[in-house]
Amino acid sequence: MSLGKRRGFVYPGSEIYGGLANSWDYGPYGTELKNNIKQAWWRMFVKRRDDMVGIDAALIMNPKVWEASGHLGVGFSDPLVECRNCHERFRADQLKPGDPCPSCGKKGMFTEPRQFNILMKTFLGAIEGEKSVAYLRGETAQGMFVDFKLVLNSTRQRVPFGIAQIGKAFRNEITPGNYIFRTREFEQMEIEYFIREKDWKKQFDYWKEQMEKWMDYLGLNKKHIHFREIAEDERAHYSKRTIDIDYDFPFGTKELYGLAYRTDFDLKNHQSASGQDMTYTDPVTNEKFVPHVIEPTFGVDRSVLAVLCESYAEEKVKDEERVVLRFPKYLAPIKIAVFPLLKNKPELVKKAREIYDNLREKYMCEFDDNGNIGKRYRRQDEIGTPYCVTIDFDTLEKGVVTVRDRDTMKQESLAVANLNNYFQDKLSGC
Ligand code: ATP
Repeated sequence: MSLGKRRGFVYPGSEIYGGLANSWDYGPYGTELKNNIKQAWWRMFVKRRDDMVGIDAALIMNPKVWEASGHLGVGFSDPLVECRNCHERFRADQLKPGDPCPSCGKKGMFTEPRQFNILMKTFLGAIEGEKSVAYLRGETAQGMFVDFKLVLNSTRQRVPFGIAQIGKAFRNEITPGNYIFRTREFEQMEIEYFIREKDWKKQFDYWKEQMEKWMDYLGLNKKHIHFREIAEDERAHYSKRTIDIDYDFPFGTKELYGLAYRTDFDLKNHQSASGQDMTYTDPVTNEKFVPHVIEPTFGVDRSVLAVLCESYAEEKVKDEERVVLRFPKYLAPIKIAVFPLLKNKPELVKKAREIYDNLREKYMCEFDDNGNIGKRYRRQDEIGTPYCVTIDFDTLEKGVVTVRDRDTMKQESLAVANLNNYFQDKLSGC
């Protein structure tokens, strides 16, 4: 967390006003990292597939959506208990019977659990008294269900196919915390994959594999990932089978992603609540049915956190401590840092700028002429930059630069003329 703040990955939200509990801002490098993750996800699951299309639905939807989906009922409520001694509130399902209060340590002080709905309320309209209640969406998924027919009518998709979306969701969590793990405002990447009921087992297994591929792409070690079958009484109200994918975070093994078979629950409910037909007609067989749904869901912020945790390393280098973020190169916020050896030698700075301008056409680059080279390397290690290029007097005289590798810390001399080819190879797929 300290590195995240110091180096510009994640800042405490509204810090100049003393912050706002559990609200975080992504800084410049955190934003790049997060965007790289989102873009890679979109590329893998939308752009490179014929059977997937993306949407970007409104955050505030007609409140009837949340009635029909069950989110306004107990389905989207958490059991809340309050400690009668210190008045802190907790989620009852996260405490074991007989546990003392996690805040004040007193035993036997909890109130009876009551259901607390976690949809976030807001009000629409300018005139007091005429304002109507609305909700910030609690998941992106409902956008895909509500727009199901529109997507079907405006594209060439045929079942099985999917609708994907990346966007913010809001939940009035009782106990947010653990940095960006659980917040009240967060981002999701979700897929609703529409299928025939008979295919659900096969599709469920297929999507589990796809999720494994994605986590591999993020560079997450398989040993840190655990698939957990959710028992019937713990499953969400709409699901017939759910697997939680847990990751070994430093604060415990906790849910990273989820995979759920949502049956035809959502489309059926929207059909009866809206009176609109949600059936699909097979163009060949004329078979008519309400599709069933497999939902792979991915938290963006939890992805960022897992990638940060997986990549973070502290090492001893010649009796000095080095902190390095070993991001997969394609996720690194900055791919190449360019340094003129000395900032008070205009000819070096000019040459370095020239090389920088050339490389930034293709890669996210950073120019740094501050302090000694060793310090500049440390800084780039801490933001996970795979390569540093130093321009010195040899560059002017012999046309060579020094390229330093983040992971091996090896430095090699390279002709300026070969730089493009070199990075084309080293940074392929970036
Ligand atoms: P949890 O059990 O941790 O509350 P959930 O099972 O309610 O999560 P889902 O409804 O399945 O979560 O949401 C899908 C994904 O969205 C989760 O796997 C997670 O990655 C992300 N997510 C859910 N709630 C939060 C939150 N409060 N902050 C950050 N990410 C979240």
